[in-house]
Amino acid sequence: MSEIEKVDCLIIGSGPAGYTAAIYAARADMNPLMYQGLQPGGQLTTTNEVENFPGYPDGVTGPEMMVQLQQQAERFDTDVRGGFIEKVDFSGDLHKCWADDGKEIHAKTVIISTGASAKYLGLPSEQKYLEMGGGVSACAVCDGFFYKGQDTVIVGAGDSACEEAHYLSKLCNKVTMLVRRDEFRASQIMEDRVKRTENIEILYNTETEEVLGDDSGVTGVRVINNQTKETSEIACTGFFLAIGHKPNTDVFKDYLNTDDVGYIKYEQPGTSKTNVEGVFVAGDAADKTYRQAVTAAGTGCIAALDAERYLAAKEG
Ligand code: NDP
Repeated sequence: MSEIEKVDCLIIGSGPAGYTAAIYAARADMNPLMYQGLQPGGQLTTTNEVENFPGYPDGVTGPEMMVQLQQQAERFDTDVRGGFIEKVDFSGDLHKCWADDGKEIHAKTVIISTGASAKYLGLPSEQKYLEMGGGVSACAVCDGFFYKGQDTVIVGAGDSACEEAHYLSKLCNKVTMLVRRDEFRASQIMEDRVKRTENIEILYNTETEEVLGDDSGVTGVRVINNQTKETSEIACTGFFLAIGHKPNTDVFKDYLNTDDVGYIKYEQPGTSKTNVEGVFVAGDAADKTYRQAVTAAGTGCIAALDAERYLAAKEG
């Protein structure tokens, strides 16, 4: 028998959405319990410098900001635990969740802030420079600024890739877009905008073989044309991926309504409510459009306020 723990508020996931929800829930005396998940701190822990989160005039590193958010949540007595929720049962009035440390948690309210994971190609060279913090990124809005006036390469042909290529084109000297088929996946309007942009070069039928670099970071990419099998090298200092994200919501899929990719659907737009009463969602687990730390934090606040109101109405 696992040990049962009863809580008013369980927060699953520890990015800006989860920590902000924790700060609000804790200050509202909901004694939140947080399981941090597989990647404590979330996607920002793979970002070097964060310069667009209000309140940090000199910028802050992603990991540093996550430590500060955790400290702020703990200052108000959030119970922050390493580990993750591996199973849930949202069929009853109390929401049952099982953690990998053997605990069975019965929560009156649950805030899901499990985020999404950017997809990478999986090449060893790509992972090497990603880990080094030396020129590989899956977020142009976060990191594009560091490549001002330089040459960059972006992989992908969906709406995100088009949006991010266009964003980069305003900062960079040149952007090369690698499209693996002979056509885009993006909507026509986004594709047209990219095609009209002078400093974006589009290479079709082109895949990445290796990310090239030295001790200072990325210096280029070796690509292959998958039709002619010809290889060539493109000099660049930034290598961006925009090949999609996967929301970390598999564990909830038997209970919560999601779209076909797995993003949790809001039951009532403008709130954080899901289709299960007492279960709320914040951050990238429900957001495929904005995906920013500050928007995640904002929805974390909304989720905690919704959870507090739900509890008050139920118990009041
Ligand atoms: P998508 O899944 O739509 O597109 C992913 C792109 O990456 C495709 O072009 C795909 O190629 C390519 N790709 C995938 N894997 C690889 C790989 N291993 N190597 C090379 N290329 C690869 O993801 P997005 O993030 O672009 O969009 C997700 C959703 O969000 C979509 O519904 C989109 O419309 C929406 N969105 C809307 C925006 C807006 O309206 N402003 C902005 C951003 C996103 P292929 O086509 O060959 O499969």
